[in-house]
Order: sequence, then structure tokens, then C-alpha cells
Amino acid sequence: MKALITGGSGFIGSHLAERLLELNHDVAVIDDLSTGSIENIAHLKRSPRFSYIVDSITNESLLAEMIDGSDVVFHLAAAVGVKLIVERPVHTIETNVHGTEVVLKHANKKRKLVIIASTSEVYGKSADVPFRENADLVLGPSEKHRWAYACSKLIDEFLALAYWKEKKLPVVVARLFNTVGPRQTGQYGMVLPTFVRQALAGEPITVFGDGTQSRSFTYVGDVVDALVALASEPRAVGEVFNIGNRGEISIHHLAERVKAQAGSHSPIQLIPYDQAYEAGFEDMPRRVPDISKLNALIGYEPKVGLEEIIRRVIEHARQG
Ligand code: UDP
Repeated sequence: MKALITGGSGFIGSHLAERLLELNHDVAVIDDLSTGSIENIAHLKRSPRFSYIVDSITNESLLAEMIDGSDVVFHLAAAVGVKLIVERPVHTIETNVHGTEVVLKHANKKRKLVIIASTSEVYGKSADVPFRENADLVLGPSEKHRWAYACSKLIDEFLALAYWKEKKLPVVVARLFNTVGPRQTGQYGMVLPTFVRQALAGEPITVFGDGTQSRSFTYVGDVVDALVALASEPRAVGEVFNIGNRGEISIHHLAERVKAQAGSHSPIQLIPYDQAYEAGFEDMPRRVPDISKLNALIGYEPKVGLEEIIRRVIEHARQG
């Protein structure tokens, strides 16, 4: 197949491009490098099946042409990272909502399958774990900017599903849980690359809040495998899927694991949320996916566990 990846120079997008090329598909990438980087795709440039353009998906004539040349669009271009979202709320909402709008509009003109990358953030602070795709979503008030991210991605989901319902445009919505692995940068606040960098530098490992909040981390290779499988499964069309890993760990425990695996002497330092983000910041205490829907459809089971993930991220950071 000929795949177009929006946001293909980002962390997840570049791994997806790599996997599709390994499977002998053609890959075109469009990325404005706002949070992605050319280094992420440097090793792919020698493949004759790979092409990329540095531009925004809001360049609609270019986007339309690229969609026309592809069979499937993986729409990953978005504003990411809680830190970025808190610091640049206008940019987040505009990028996420408008970007998806134009992708769906042009995909619809050419009747191309679109895989929309959404996020586990849409479950908000629901305590009803593990999260099922059809569960109620529990978000905080609009004055807390964190929730703008969830809402912007929810609008993307609603719009995609509306295109399917009203115009029969084939779409699949994938809710990605905390995805980690080599090439992820801590620059936008993500916890694992941040802890690894701090541990290797001998700096304090900064645990926000009291560290009892937990997350379930999924290896990026498992995530991209699921995305590829969903793109070739007709029964996935019009549906929403969690992509994640059931294994759960508290953030304090994660800091201890990273410290131990890195052989680091860094102290673990607790930082109140209002210092880490902003006054009144709300975090979710737990976030665990129910992956039975994905498992039932494509036999999905995550393959890489947390210890191995941490090992690979440390190795990558040491090389970089
Ligand atoms: N976190 C932390 N220290 C950091 C960065 C993040 O303790 O330097 C915490 C953060 O408050 C959250 C969890 O780690 O509870 C995961 O944060 P991340 O931004 O990676 O993803 P999120 O799950 O918030 O989208």
C-alpha cells in the first residue's frame, strides 16, 4: 500500500514509517517539524519507497495532492505533550482541530481510508479503570487548559466518526495510551525520556505530585504494529480502539526502576504539580486500557515489557 503519514517525523510517526517500509509499503511523510525532527527519519531517506515534505498539513493544495497519491492516511500530526498544551493552549486547539478537519475533508474527496491517532487523555480523570472504548469520559472544567487537549482530540474523533456515518468515508480511531521508546524526547514533558536523561546526567529525577499516580506504558513498536493491522482490517472501519498495555506502574516506582536500570545515583525529588505545570493543575490518578476489543479483532497483545522498554530507552539516550 501507499501510506501517507502526517506527523511522520515525530516519535511515533517515524517508527510507523520504518515499520511500513520494512513491510515493503510506500511511505510519504508530511511534517512541519514543529515537534518532529529530521533526525527521526534520516535513516529512512535512502529507501526508494520513502519520500517526505517539510510543510504544514494546513497547506491544503499540497495535502490534497499527497492524499491523492496514497491509499491510506495515518493522521498523526498534532500538538502533543501536556507541558506544550498547558503553555500553548491556542496553538494546541487550533492545530488539533483544524489539522484533522482538513485531512478528513481532502481524504473524503478522494475516498481514502484515514486512521486517526487519538489519545487516552480523552478518558480524562475517569476512575472507571480499565478504560473501555464505550465508557463515559470525565473531563474537568474549561478553565483548566489540560482538558482542552482531550476536547480537541475528542472533536477529531467526533468529526471522523461523523464522516463515516454521514459520508461513508472509511475511518478508524485509535486511542493511544502512554507510548514510549527510543527517539521520544523529554522536551515536551514526557516522563520516561525525562527520567532517563536525568538519571544518566546524575541530576535529580523529578517526580510530580506524590508519585502515586500510575500509567500504563506501551512500546512504540507495539503501537505501530497495531496501527498497521487496523489499516488492513475492514471490520475496524467506523470503530474506536484503545492501543495500550495493561501493565501499570506508579510514577515513583518508575523513577526507581529507571534509576536502578541506569545505575544512577540521582536523588528522586518530589515536585508539587503547581510548580511543575501551573496552579490548579489536575492529573489523573490512574490510566489503564482495556484492550480486549483490539485483541478480539486483530489478536493484539503487546510484546515488549517495561523493563525492556527502559533498557532500550537508556541505550538510545546513551548513544545520542
Ligand atoms: N511526570 C513526572 N515527572 C516528569 C514528567 C511527568 O512525574 O518530569 C508525571 C506526570 O505528572 C504524569 C506522568 O508522569 O503523572 C506521565 O506524564 P506524561 O507527561 O509523560 O504523560 P501524561 O500521562 O500526563 O499524558
